[in-house]
Amino acid sequence: MYYINVILPLYVQNTFTYKVNKAEFEFLKKGMRVAVEFGKSKIYTALVYEIHQNPPTYETKDIHQILDEKPVVTEQQLKLWEWISSYYMCSLGEVFRGAMPSAFLLESETIIYKNEAFQDQSILTDDEFLIFEALQNQTSLTVHQVSEILGKKKVLPILDEMIKKLVLYIKEEIYEVYKPKLVKYVRLNAKYNDENALQNLLEELSRAKKQRDAILTFFQLKTIKKPIKVDVLKEKSGVSSAIIKALEDKEIFEIYSIQTDRINFDGATNNLKQLNEYQQKALLEIKESFTKNDITLLHGVTSSGKTEIYTKLIDDVVSQGKQVLFLLPEIALTTQIISRLQQYFGDKISVFHSKYSMNERVEVWNNILENKQKAQIILGARSSVFLPFSNLGLIVIDEEHEQSYKQFDPNPRYNGRDSAIVLGKLHQAKVLLGSATPSVESKFNTEQKKYGLVELNRRHGNVQMPKIELIDIKEKHRKKEMNGHFSDRLLEMMNDALAEKEQIILFQNRRGFSPVVECTTCGISPQCPNCDVSLTYHKFRGELRCHYCHYSRAMPNNCGACGSNTLDTKGFGTEQIELELKGLFPDHKIGRMDLDTTRGKFGYQKIIGAFEAQEIDILVGTQMLAKGLDFSNVSLVGILNADRMLNFPDFRAHERAFQLMLQVSGRAGRSEKQGNVAIQTFNPYHQILQQVSENNYTKMYKEQLQERWQYHYPPYYRLIKITLKHKDYTKVEDGVKWLHQALYNSFGENVLGPSTPSVGRIRNQYIRNIVVKIPPKQSIPKTKEHIQKIRNSFEAIKEFRPIRFVLDVDAY
Ligand code: ADP
Ligand code: ZN
Ligand code: ZN
Repeated sequence: MYYINVILPLYVQNTFTYKVNKAEFEFLKKGMRVAVEFGKSKIYTALVYEIHQNPPTYETKDIHQILDEKPVVTEQQLKLWEWISSYYMCSLGEVFRGAMPSAFLLESETIIYKNEAFQDQSILTDDEFLIFEALQNQTSLTVHQVSEILGKKKVLPILDEMIKKLVLYIKEEIYEVYKPKLVKYVRLNAKYNDENALQNLLEELSRAKKQRDAILTFFQLKTIKKPIKVDVLKEKSGVSSAIIKALEDKEIFEIYSIQTDRINFDGATNNLKQLNEYQQKALLEIKESFTKNDITLLHGVTSSGKTEIYTKLIDDVVSQGKQVLFLLPEIALTTQIISRLQQYFGDKISVFHSKYSMNERVEVWNNILENKQKAQIILGARSSVFLPFSNLGLIVIDEEHEQSYKQFDPNPRYNGRDSAIVLGKLHQAKVLLGSATPSVESKFNTEQKKYGLVELNRRHGNVQMPKIELIDIKEKHRKKEMNGHFSDRLLEMMNDALAEKEQIILFQNRRGFSPVVECTTCGISPQCPNCDVSLTYHKFRGELRCHYCHYSRAMPNNCGACGSNTLDTKGFGTEQIELELKGLFPDHKIGRMDLDTTRGKFGYQKIIGAFEAQEIDILVGTQMLAKGLDFSNVSLVGILNADRMLNFPDFRAHERAFQLMLQVSGRAGRSEKQGNVAIQTFNPYHQILQQVSENNYTKMYKEQLQERWQYHYPPYYRLIKITLKHKDYTKVEDGVKWLHQALYNSFGENVLGPSTPSVGRIRNQYIRNIVVKIPPKQSIPKTKEHIQKIRNSFEAIKEFRPIRFVLDVDAY
């Protein structure tokens, strides 16, 4: 008898055994997909994990069919999955589901759609054509319906092939059709930089009045230092496109477009930049460090040119024919990095992230699997650690301190940075972590000699670090020197910057108009009906919204509790700041960047592009603004209220506040002139603010480390967070009491809680947390094993079974 054990993409503990025949046994390899029946006659895509001849104790079913000709998942990937499953305490099935693009996981319930862009019917087989034709008449089909149309039971391979041919899409895919936004700009040919040449030109054109007008208007516009749009030039000079075309043909004007997208890459590659002496030294130190430590941390201040150093290392590895993974905390913010790397490496770069359509992701996956040249450098968010690398030489983890490397929900709740380190080990690849504000954990690892350390303390071009000024707004309020949320000092600095035609970034760590609406008569705020949280006012839509469950309602006129019409908006969010700014600076263009303005694949790109093109003078935004953006004309960064970040009940709050403030500050003065940073606060003597203003990472680090030691937190202790959720309050309460007792019996004082998170009910589910701390000498695997046993006992109790039990290892 012949058997295979498969991984199902589900939360089930083990692999499952199915029967195969001799031919299948000989054909199948670990890492191929098979369709199998599981549960109530549902078909799933499963992955072959073991092939053997040991009959299990239970009755086995036959597999439905084989889906692949060769493995789509490699041995090394499976090793990483095993590590993730065991370290983060989740099933291999959950890792399987999280690791593969959903297109690889067709199942009987899957709904398929036609790709409207697909044209070439000649490449379709007969079966494929039938499906294609059926989709002309109806918008979607289930896999089951496809079976009926073809009169066949086994249709998954056909659908699989059609997805590869880009004929079909499957459900859950919210993809956007790409429409490049091309804005045309105009500049003068460099040969007219010379005063004489210009004079001659104007004389030459004395009879071509319109062309002359166009050039004179161009010079007027040029005084405002901004790139000049063709449309603007046309409008201001009153000349037609034909005139500008004529000037372009005469090689007087040059028309160019600014775009920052990945798809319209034009193929031109530049040479790598010459490193400055400090970068050169850092590069040598990194290479030296790599001879002793596979993992090295590059601690380089903002704008020190870390990216240029990465490119040198990437170049080396690529020229040895190896693959490179470049990890970013949030790919959506990093169109800038994409275009910077593309300049050097052209089409050797592929981008992988969840906002790309399924087909794009499948394509990248397959290119990497086949080790194609165009997938030699992968730029991606955390999920790209799951790609089928075969020959990985280097992993760069940029902004390694970012908490968004940690997957929060659902399982696997893995940290992309830490998983990348394991991935690096599996491939014997070098790993470079980079940050201007390293996480306490990583810095600690350098001190423990687990990682090498290279420091870079100078900004490129010897630009000075920004000057950071703390503004005491308690004092300003007292002296009535506030205008809305702006102190007179901040306004003064803003006016100075604007007068110099420089741009400003304002940081407010809260989106929406105002966090809460409150009745000034009775003091009650409108609450979300599904969550224990006040609704947020969004002025633009005149709506109250819940940021947890997306519930929304129109802003009421009267208080729901007392009926008075005294609802007032308190606090402040980005939208409110934007509105205040429009009043304060009516002649300047204000932009806003937060979750609400950046929905969709190209949302960020539009705003970042507009800011780069200097179409926006003042950009207001949330913490998204902190992440690795490089704008050359920003001279002032303002933080409107630093206090909220500091008063957060979390052991990482201070570290994070420091990182965030220093990172946002780093956006100021990235070229030539020293930048300014203004931080408004009620508490300018707070140690973290002092450390930020002195740019003193070391002091912050030492102090935080001391506290972590004293209060038993990472990096000394490890944390495992357990969350219970259920819509019945008493059930959760009973469950959490039982669980706490069981854990306490084993781990005593190292069990914290039970506690209620700051929002104690979300989508009608009550939430309770327990944290288990693992002391430095206690075995981590044994502790996990024991927690798993307690979990099993918990889930064996009938009344607790409906409670959702979530484990989060190294929780953030
Ligand atoms: P970081 O990632 O450390 O914040 P970047 O790599 O973004 O810094 O560099 C900051 C700016 O300086 C960028 O605009 C970059 O193009 C420029 N730059 C850095 N190094 C060099 C170099 N060696 N030659 C020319 N420009 C450089
Ligand atoms: Zn809600
Ligand atoms: Zn009221």
